[in-house]
Amino acid sequence: MNEVAAAPSRFAEVALPVPLPHLFSYRIPAFLVDQCLPGCPVLVPMGRGWRTGVVWRVGDQPGWSEGEIRELVDLLDAEPLMGEGLRAMLEWISRYYLQPIGRVVEVALPSFLGHERKRHYRWLGERRLPEGLTPGERCLAEALLARKPGLAEETLVTKCGRVGLTGRLTSLVRQGLIDVVEDWQPRHRHRAGTAPEVTTAWGEFSAPVVPTDEQAVCAATLGEALRQGGYAPFLLEGVTGSGKTEVYFLAVEQCLALGGQALLLVPEIALTPQLVGRCLARFQEGVAVLHSGLTPRSRFDHWHRIRRGEARVVVGARSALFAPFARLSLIIVDEEHEPSYKQEEGVPYHGRDMAVVRARQEKAVLVLGSATPSMETLVNVRRGRFRHLRLTRRATGALPPRMELVDLRCKEHQVPDRPGGLLSLPLRQGIDAVLARRRQALLFLNRRGFSPTVLCTLCGYTFGCPNCSVSLTLHREKRQLICHYCDFRQPPVDVCPSCGQLSLRPMGPGTEQLEGEVRATFPTARVARLDRDAVGQGQVDLEATLEAFRVGGIDLLIGTQMVAKGHHFPGLELVGIVQAETTLCLPDFRAGERTFQLVKQVAGRAGREVREGSPSRVLIQTWDPAHYALQAALSGDVEGFAAQELSVRQECGYPPFVRLALLRVSSAWQADGEAFVVRLKARLPQWPGVVFLGPAQAPIFRLRNRFRWQLLIKGGGEDGVVQKAVQGVLLRAKELLNPRIRLEVDIDPYNFL
Ligand code: ADP
Ligand code: ZN
Repeated sequence: MNEVAAAPSRFAEVALPVPLPHLFSYRIPAFLVDQCLPGCPVLVPMGRGWRTGVVWRVGDQPGWSEGEIRELVDLLDAEPLMGEGLRAMLEWISRYYLQPIGRVVEVALPSFLGHERKRHYRWLGERRLPEGLTPGERCLAEALLARKPGLAEETLVTKCGRVGLTGRLTSLVRQGLIDVVEDWQPRHRHRAGTAPEVTTAWGEFSAPVVPTDEQAVCAATLGEALRQGGYAPFLLEGVTGSGKTEVYFLAVEQCLALGGQALLLVPEIALTPQLVGRCLARFQEGVAVLHSGLTPRSRFDHWHRIRRGEARVVVGARSALFAPFARLSLIIVDEEHEPSYKQEEGVPYHGRDMAVVRARQEKAVLVLGSATPSMETLVNVRRGRFRHLRLTRRATGALPPRMELVDLRCKEHQVPDRPGGLLSLPLRQGIDAVLARRRQALLFLNRRGFSPTVLCTLCGYTFGCPNCSVSLTLHREKRQLICHYCDFRQPPVDVCPSCGQLSLRPMGPGTEQLEGEVRATFPTARVARLDRDAVGQGQVDLEATLEAFRVGGIDLLIGTQMVAKGHHFPGLELVGIVQAETTLCLPDFRAGERTFQLVKQVAGRAGREVREGSPSRVLIQTWDPAHYALQAALSGDVEGFAAQELSVRQECGYPPFVRLALLRVSSAWQADGEAFVVRLKARLPQWPGVVFLGPAQAPIFRLRNRFRWQLLIKGGGEDGVVQKAVQGVLLRAKELLNPRIRLEVDIDPYNFL
């Protein structure tokens, strides 16, 4: 006799978007065994409901499981959503950043993975209305009788009303007149051949230029690496205006010619409309732009176009790193030094570092571009891990701007009729000269609002946020005092709440104040302001304002970092940095680096076109002209700055020479957190090669109504040492934890507030 042997069971390990640090095992039903592949989205039972997850591994043995192994419900897509490279990167993130794999998958998968349950009813009885139905049942019966394949629950709601619907349907089911089919459907379905929304602004950039010698050399080197295949990381260091974008595009062209896909990462997509526009103009339908403003629908379409290789060039912010490329062979990280690549919420990770990881997994060429590379990247170059490409001259042949420091402490730099104003005499005269020549000036101040503090000049009272230990910023336009951390608002008052005197004074500068002063000083100039307030309130359209400034419709532009990035303004001759040290006083070992980068970045907007006469100018107003970061920005000595900064970092034991991890503790009640921190401190392990600093109160002790502490963990040397130490601490912390304490791990932290 020939007995058919039962096929051996197969098991799938599934990553589910839940905060547990392991995969979940499920038995694969026989009818799915052939299709259920790693990377496929599946529906699985969990608790009393169903969840969507991603198959991570498939095997003959179940992995870790608690109790009985259940069967997975269904396969939601026979095409894997994630390739091996992407899965490997997510695992890497989970290990390196000490985050549960499920949470990492949740970050990587856009919201469209959600599925919804659809109920569908069919008529089973004879093809005529039976006797004895209630009027409500009758309505349903008529509707279902008229349509043989049946009707969805929503349709029945619209036809017969929602009231008592479930009861009526149940009654019909019980009478054997209808049956119900349950079906899970993806919330969105793939539509074939949908093109992305393409904006055609900045179209004139599409005309290809003849590459400069330096650009040609860089492009050729990258082309060589692309042809060879394999992981090949580069730093492309190019002075502002040197035409890095053209090198990116030349590399993308070669990548496409070889049949690959390219990813261009930008720090914040909303702030880089020019780059996106140039990319769309150059590569047209092949481009997918991923940004946070996309509807789930359109994100879903892009995702599938990328997966099928229809979208060949993808532009996006850090989350684009998780797109399901079919054959990713080039990753470009523009402005690699930008702190906005660091994700702070949820699963904290660094976009630039993850680009390195993904490039390694995909065996892709990696280009990190910057005029002011981060110390982390420079050290990688020094250690021979990254190759160094340079662009030393501006592509248009324009001269670099002349940099000047204005010492705000000098009496003779003050404007006589406006002492204490935000514009010094040299800056005011500079603007006058520029306006006389019908050119433009950009004034940079990295602080929005009117004033960061309001102070009582008699008793010293300041307005603080009731939820955070920071002062409230005065916004005159909105007539409000606002907390820039939690958005608490209160109307300003005239009388000091503490001493009752009319003695309140706004202290310190903000862009609103600067705008007022500029308008008063240059009444005939056309002035515009760009910051999050102006753009956020919809008074000002970011792209339209940038475009107006570009074509000369605005004379003086005032802005925060929003205007610092990547923009090209042909008529811009003068850049004024109103207060260079706004970033210097932060309790952050990167403050010097950050200041240097910002100043160079803003300065790089000036004089990007060749022009007769004197070169363009950058005036840096400062109270601390001797600061090495400003001195380096003044002399333009990027290498000298890096050398000095790195030696300081090495001496003081800071990254990139050591690894840091930050353990953040917070609680709604001060006593809870305090008790926890005291006990944790007493139980900190001795860990070879690792130093624990703290736990101590965070510089912003109270934030959004929670009290905060932090423990800094510093380790040198090999990879993984800090992670092991953090795990050791977490193990001990676990025994002390209670639901009132929140504990978060941040590996390679950037925010120390
Ligand atoms: P970066 O990003 O390095 O600051 P961009 O890529 O924005 O510089 O280029 C600066 C300007 O130089 C742009 O207006 C660009 O069109 C122009 N440009 C780039 N390459 C060339 C070239 N080979 N010849 C002429 N102009 C160029
Ligand atoms: Zn607040």
